[in-house]
Amino acid sequence: MEIYYNAKVYMNDGSGSSAEALAVEDGVIKAVGSSEEMLALASPTDKANDLEGALIMPGFVDSHLHFLEYAGEKRLVDLTGSKDKEDMLSILRERLPEALDKGVPLKGSGFNQNFWEDPTMPLRHDLDRLSTDIPIAITRTCHHVTVCNTPALRLCGLEQSNPDGILQEDDQYALLNALPRPTVDDIKELILSACYDVASKGITEIQTDDLTLIPIEPYGKTIIDAFRQLSEEGKLPIRVYEQCNLPSMERLKAFLNDGYMTGQSFGNFTIGPLKLLGDGALGARSAALMEPYQDDPENTGILNFRDKELSDLVLKAHKAGMQIAIHGIGDRCIQQILDSFAKALEEDPREDHRHGIVHCQITRPEQLRAMQDMNIMAYIQPVFLKADQYIVEDRIGPELTSSSYDWRTMEDMGIRLAGGSDCPVEPFDILPNMYYALTCREPGAEHAWHPEKSLTLEETIRLFTSDGAYASFSEDRRGKILPGFDADFVVLDRDITTLPAEALLEAQVLMTFVGGKNVYSI
Ligand SMILES: [Zn+2]
Repeated sequence: MEIYYNAKVYMNDGSGSSAEALAVEDGVIKAVGSSEEMLALASPTDKANDLEGALIMPGFVDSHLHFLEYAGEKRLVDLTGSKDKEDMLSILRERLPEALDKGVPLKGSGFNQNFWEDPTMPLRHDLDRLSTDIPIAITRTCHHVTVCNTPALRLCGLEQSNPDGILQEDDQYALLNALPRPTVDDIKELILSACYDVASKGITEIQTDDLTLIPIEPYGKTIIDAFRQLSEEGKLPIRVYEQCNLPSMERLKAFLNDGYMTGQSFGNFTIGPLKLLGDGALGARSAALMEPYQDDPENTGILNFRDKELSDLVLKAHKAGMQIAIHGIGDRCIQQILDSFAKALEEDPREDHRHGIVHCQITRPEQLRAMQDMNIMAYIQPVFLKADQYIVEDRIGPELTSSSYDWRTMEDMGIRLAGGSDCPVEPFDILPNMYYALTCREPGAEHAWHPEKSLTLEETIRLFTSDGAYASFSEDRRGKILPGFDADFVVLDRDITTLPAEALLEAQVLMTFVGGKNVYSI
């Protein structure tokens, strides 16, 4: 048994209770109470850890991210800080010799031309100025658009047909498909290269969308095998709930035929929901809207599926017993998703399905009511306000803005929320993400964006702990500090549960524990 004492333990049990200490045995919380009580439980061989007044709270859950994409991006040129097109090109130029040395394409990620004085999209010919020998591909911060130079397009067989070099949505996989396929061992190495980063932010569970990383495979078997093997070998330090992105009937069937299903667990690795990508993003104006973009009147965005295609996939997965989570940002896409859920639930009613909409940003009041009626979850990313607060109203006008990003109303209506980062779109730092949920304000800004949409501190903490656990059907054993729960917890250097919101920006993660195991220490 291990004792952690002289702390404040925020139990997150809905009653605001706290304690001073906890006892952990065999990966499970055995008891919670005063330091004196817990120390009294210990035998002379048990270890007692004095936490010197730190805060213990349930481990954080990131309910939607792209973990392997993050891991892969660590190897890419970071373009997030580029000040304009020329600056971005010079950052890339510096890394050209390295790509040439290794004989691999030069790949960059994270630029956002909307932050530049001249917001013109960089194109193929701009990248050709860097090299007409080395393939170069750069992905926008939203991950919905990639720009290629001529050699990269040549690899994909698109040299003649794509004069601007812009690949959108699934077309972005063309380059990946043209390169040698990674092996299970490659993926295992990739996974392990990023687990520590996640744990260092106090995250104990990720719900992650990775299977399309090797799009050429029938359903991402190499990736599932890699996670499974690591987990079964006891080498996966964090819990992983895979949001299985299977964007065609063929893939979904191949996956189901191999016997996979939501809830199947291999230790720390568990098969999660069917994940689909319904539309684009607001920044790139590819989120599918009912009315044209106010700042682009010819454009209503892009739906990735035809109605029937989406509802067939949803029905197939639903009938098979899977949970379903679909990326929907624009109101037109959200409607398409709701219609497909309604059809599936009508044909095959199921109580505790926990289907959800990932992002769920541009919503109309009647859509929120439909979510409430059908018990549809919303996977939200409060940190998106960092960028979106400056564009939402320009894109969709004030009226639709008032019913969008409306976490307060969702919470009040009883719509289940789960918080996430969508990393690598935004970093998976949970504490700053919480800050946006709590304040709807950019740190240091004088005014909040729409403070009436914000959540309370208790709701904010739930969003990234027990509500995240609900999204993976694990709320009865994770997300709270209670006897019998898994010993997944984080230790912070200050008490964010009583300090002003700014403490969320300053707090440090001191330690992270998954199943009682210390997976990170500062
Ligand atoms: Zn995503």
